[in-house]
Amino acid sequence: MKFTTPRRIVGSNAERTRLHNRQVVLGHVREQQPVGRAELARISGLSTQAVSNIIAELAEDGFLVEAGRQVAGRGLPALQYRLNGDGAAALGIEVRPDAMFGALVNLEGETLFTTRVALSDNSPATVAHVARAISAGAVSGHISGQQLLGAGVVMPGPFGNVGISGAGQSVLQGWEGVDSVALFEEALGMAVIVENDATAAAVAERVRGVASGLRTFCFVYFGAGLGLGVMADGEVQRGAFGNAGEIGHVVMTPGGRPCACGNKGCLETYASRIAARAQLALAGIAVNSASDIEQLYEAGDPHLMAWLDEAAGPLSQAIGMIENLFDPETVILGGAMPDAVLDHLISALSLPGGSVAVRPGRDTPRVLRGACGRLTAALGGAALVIHDAVTPRIAERT
Ligand SMILES: [Zn+2]
Repeated sequence: MKFTTPRRIVGSNAERTRLHNRQVVLGHVREQQPVGRAELARISGLSTQAVSNIIAELAEDGFLVEAGRQVAGRGLPALQYRLNGDGAAALGIEVRPDAMFGALVNLEGETLFTTRVALSDNSPATVAHVARAISAGAVSGHISGQQLLGAGVVMPGPFGNVGISGAGQSVLQGWEGVDSVALFEEALGMAVIVENDATAAAVAERVRGVASGLRTFCFVYFGAGLGLGVMADGEVQRGAFGNAGEIGHVVMTPGGRPCACGNKGCLETYASRIAARAQLALAGIAVNSASDIEQLYEAGDPHLMAWLDEAAGPLSQAIGMIENLFDPETVILGGAMPDAVLDHLISALSLPGGSVAVRPGRDTPRVLRGACGRLTAALGGAALVIHDAVTPRIAERT
């Protein structure tokens, strides 16, 4: 599948400047609300007249509402504004090999609707059809179509024709050469951002999970395979082709278990749902969902416990490597694994002592479990759209 960067900037210089200023004002309102015009002009560096025009436009579009008046010195108390949470919403859709998840999130980050649809196949035609149905279900009874800012579609990488494309059960079949952004924009009739699942999960944790307040952290994402989302100083790291963070295909045990990518001893062959499924299959146990794994865990299944013990070693080494590469405030584990299993895995880790993360006065643990559950990537897709709507890009630099 082709990876088309979502950061398309179109239009004339004046139009780009207008959009940029609008995002600046929205971003400041989100951080400072309730806030008045004079204060917005001061922190944004825009003229009071420019801010007034933008506020009028945003209020007309339903993004802002008045929030009373505040006395500040002499004269008429200043009119305050805040985000209109219900004024707009974004759709997040996660595509996994065997299922799709949908989440509708409003401007203030509240979840309005969620859904899961099992997939019989993951061809582009089927996925586009299911995406359309998820979108219709999300809009129906929750918001009007006009209020939808767009959709963030989240898919497992890698994107493009690279050395590990088509690597077994963790990738989608039949997507080679498909322009995924165009496919979903056509199917959904709205602007679409396509992002890899681990990166979207990192965004979700920053917006509403355990990473709120953190600027630099990593997210180890359990999808079918294993991905890594990297947030550095508040910005997601995508790599040149959208493929940064393919941690699942980093060799942790040289000469170890064969992987579908052609390597031997990839992390994914030890610590992932694929690995758990393969180990359990050897014992004649079929696992089709996170719920199946949860039931086995609650029953104390010895085969699952043996897999957890085995997975902890290579995962510990990988986390040590991630720490030394990115110097994050913390490493988060999350995604399509039950919370109890992730907690068990974290308690079983034996993190290397030789790591830049070992330092006195840490105020965040080296490893945390994500707080957004199995919808984390779908929520992240929606969060990316909202983030794009309220965060200025470097658009005025032409
Ligand atoms: Zn591999």
